[in-house]
Amino acid sequence: MDKITLTIDGKTVEVASGATVLEAAKSVGIYIPTLCYFEDLEPYGGCRLCVVEIEKMRGMPIACTTPATDGMVVKTNSPDLLNVRRTALELLLSNHPCECLTCDRRKKCGPNDICLRSVGVTDRCALCPSNGDCELQKVAEYLDFHEMRLPHNPREYPVDTSNPFFVLDRNKCILCARCVRACNEITGVGAIDMAYRGSQMKVATLGDKPLMESICKSCGECMVRCPVGALAPKDMSRPDSEVKTTCPYCGVGCEMYLGIKDGRIVSVRGDKEGKANKSRLCVKGRFGIKEFVHSPERLTKPLIRKNGVLEEATWDEALNYVAQKLAGFTGDEIAVLASAKSTNEDNYVIQKFARAVLHTNNVDHCARL
Ligand code: SF4
Ligand code: SF4
Ligand code: SF4
Ligand code: SF4
Repeated sequence: MDKITLTIDGKTVEVASGATVLEAAKSVGIYIPTLCYFEDLEPYGGCRLCVVEIEKMRGMPIACTTPATDGMVVKTNSPDLLNVRRTALELLLSNHPCECLTCDRRKKCGPNDICLRSVGVTDRCALCPSNGDCELQKVAEYLDFHEMRLPHNPREYPVDTSNPFFVLDRNKCILCARCVRACNEITGVGAIDMAYRGSQMKVATLGDKPLMESICKSCGECMVRCPVGALAPKDMSRPDSEVKTTCPYCGVGCEMYLGIKDGRIVSVRGDKEGKANKSRLCVKGRFGIKEFVHSPERLTKPLIRKNGVLEEATWDEALNYVAQKLAGFTGDEIAVLASAKSTNEDNYVIQKFARAVLHTNNVDHCARL
């Protein structure tokens, strides 16, 4: 691929032709604040935080949509740029609960501390699922934002809790459209869109119905790209460590990290480096793992049905019983159904048992639950 060379903040940067100014800056570790940009989504240019100055170009172009060209000279940091970015941020915050960003105690407060500000309990930053991991907080910090100068009109939308795995709280939405683009560009579902215009604009399903009454597939690809607490998992447990593994459910083989806390799986995230999935997961991989692993309803002893009732049995009893029953059948009369909730190794053994011992190729597992 052709290479081009440009200068950003005095640094010489070489990138592949076709890269944007933002990508070129990122490639050498130069931070330009963004909220609507996401690396695997088409550029949107909605938040206008990534304005830069480019020699021989008028105004302040947006870095995420401006192609880098050979010989270009870019400045990402000047008092004028910071002023424009601060104004863009204030506009974004004009109906966001911004007390969270202006409170000088924010860094000192723990989730169980008593709020010393005179704000509604629901405005407390400690209660926002994104607190501490919020891109808006990071951008506000970078821009040294402490005071709201524009009129502030928080919205009062009911929170959509219809989805079993995540909530959509439009009161915290900054209209970056990452979720809409993820649902269109990544999943190809198109369950949500930016609906209405002007101050009424919001993320909505067709007919403005709750998410679960739409065509949403609950994959959560929108949720993981939301920069704030507007789309957030219902279970906000944060892990102490992560273990890399492969989703057991289907043959795609998506790679993922299981988040662990106190010996239990509390979160799942797709691996960006995963060749098959590049961080993406479907509903089964993202939300269908932690419940069954720790479910108290898991069978820990074999059961044999006697007179229509399942009764606990020992392993010897169960294995003898199954061996006797199977002895009466051969080949195509037998089918073996395994489970995606078993380990890969267990599934390997059962298909070997089916083919080599029972002489049947009727084996299935796939993503059966
Ligand atoms: S989304 Fe971010 S800025 Fe908004 S309330 Fe939550 S933590 Fe604060
Ligand atoms: S969960 Fe998946 S299908 Fe549903 S709105 Fe989000 S991206 Fe679209
Ligand atoms: S819900 Fe989140 S991702 Fe979607 S537009 Fe609002 S802030 Fe952006
Ligand atoms: S079940 Fe879903 S997450 Fe798991 S490997 Fe298949 S496509 Fe990937």
